[in-house]
Amino acid sequence: MESSCLIWFRKDLRLSDNPAVTAAKNFKHVYPVYIIDDDIYENKFLGGASIWWLENSLNSLNLDMKNSLKVFKGDSLKIIPKICDDLKINSVFWNRCYEKDRIFKDTKLKEYLLANNIEAKSFNASLLWEPWIIKNKSGNPYKVFTPFFKSGCLESSSPRKPLKKPENILFKKINTMLEEYKFNYTTEKNHWSAKFHKYWKVGELGAKKNFDKFLNNGAKNYSVGRNFPSAENVSKLSPYLHWGEISPFEVWYGAKSKMSGENKNVFLSEIGWREFAYHLLYNFPNLQEKNLKNNFDSFPWQKNETFLKRWEKGMTGFPIVDAGMRELWETGYMHNRVRMITSSFLVKNLLQNWQLGKDWFWDCLLDADAASNSASWQWVAGTGTDATPFFRIFNPITQSQKFDESANYIKKYLPELKNLPTKLIFSPFEYDKHTLKKYGVVLGENYPSPIINYSESRKRAINTYTKFINKD
Ligand SMILES: Cc1cc2nc3c(=O)[nH]c(=O)nc-3n(C[C@H](O)[C@H](O)[C@H](O)COP(=O)(O)OP(=O)(O)OC[C@H]3O[C@@H](n4cnc5c(N)ncnc54)[C@H](O)[C@@H]3O)c2cc1C
Repeated sequence: MESSCLIWFRKDLRLSDNPAVTAAKNFKHVYPVYIIDDDIYENKFLGGASIWWLENSLNSLNLDMKNSLKVFKGDSLKIIPKICDDLKINSVFWNRCYEKDRIFKDTKLKEYLLANNIEAKSFNASLLWEPWIIKNKSGNPYKVFTPFFKSGCLESSSPRKPLKKPENILFKKINTMLEEYKFNYTTEKNHWSAKFHKYWKVGELGAKKNFDKFLNNGAKNYSVGRNFPSAENVSKLSPYLHWGEISPFEVWYGAKSKMSGENKNVFLSEIGWREFAYHLLYNFPNLQEKNLKNNFDSFPWQKNETFLKRWEKGMTGFPIVDAGMRELWETGYMHNRVRMITSSFLVKNLLQNWQLGKDWFWDCLLDADAASNSASWQWVAGTGTDATPFFRIFNPITQSQKFDESANYIKKYLPELKNLPTKLIFSPFEYDKHTLKKYGVVLGENYPSPIINYSESRKRAINTYTKFINKD
């Protein structure tokens, strides 16, 4: 039996199908650690919702390892060598991340450890296909989803099978002079995030239960039902996948064995979108902060604080947009269709820079993810590699009539509109005030008047994009 091993947890907060944990199974002493490293964007600018999830997730992992997890805050390039020194560690194992700042520090750490005769191994725990493996015929990264997924991923080797949780690992708590980090999230937002407990069971067990529930229920009508925000057909796995409480391998093979037909194909391709986002992040490392189409650097966004604040708070006067933004605030999640509607509204109808929307989502989403969030916002804004055509503007009125036909979703998050007949609810501003008053709605008093005239804003967006694109 070998002696001491350090497992450095990051976005792999689970014990089953965790290659770093499996690799440690024959060691006599296995020390788990998590480090909040302020050199890493995701740690330094951790959103409010993410802090809540992370704290709960680490608590849950700690319990699963019988109270042996230590959390530190600081420079991982200093903390890990110090632990190795203090505890005479022989091997350090971790699972790979794909953000440029993480890659930079991981490379430095590996160099240091190897130079000091400490075994250093990294593994793949969070992507079905490593982003450097999938290349197009010219040897370049893919820029468009369909060929990436169909010709790139599906025609390459099958993802590996999930690993079983190793039995009998005796995790030990690190004992060093380093100061342990205690979460102390006592701002006003603490109060805000406390309610997330109502909606989410954080941790590996929560992830598994959530997935089983989906496979036994929503999955059976996924391909159609996933478009309807009030239907319970989506998996809500995104935060679990982001934090690594369930692995994409478990999800991929679980779905393959339990789902069938179109439901299965569509679900697997959505998992493919997650892979694509990471493929873009790895190959275009500035995805988070720069337009992938750099000509958009001079796009005439029309900065307007009032528009932004009203969008953030769900006070635009467009019910489906407001319901989505309030779902986000209330639950830390927003249904995908509504993410598309609300983001299109901000970027196209209000002509606000996609970065502002991305930042708000980053702060409020429990699944806030450098790859998926940035890639999706760039897709909506038309600044990405595989983007919606600029003239595709999600019409919040027709979208809600089609996908929230009985207005159950709108009524759930906008109770002030719940007495309006369905015909009126999608665009109350189109009806006269006496009619609305009969149903308890007074625009500008208990529900906002619309912040823009919809058809004018659509024309303005198309004109602005057309002029801009033709200028080049
Ligand atoms: C503006 C905008 C911002 C977004 N920000 C994020 C984000 O920060 N984090 C995030 O995980 N997803 C993001 N998405 C993608 C998508 O909306 C969510 O992944 C999905 O809504 C999560 O719900 P679910 O788990 O019930 O999805 P399901 O429909 O059950 O899909 C299963 C899984 O597939 C993956 N997936 C599905 N759709 C996408 C997609 N379009 N792009 C990437 N992965 C996808 C997710 O991991 C998801 O959990 C964003 C989409 C938009 C339009």
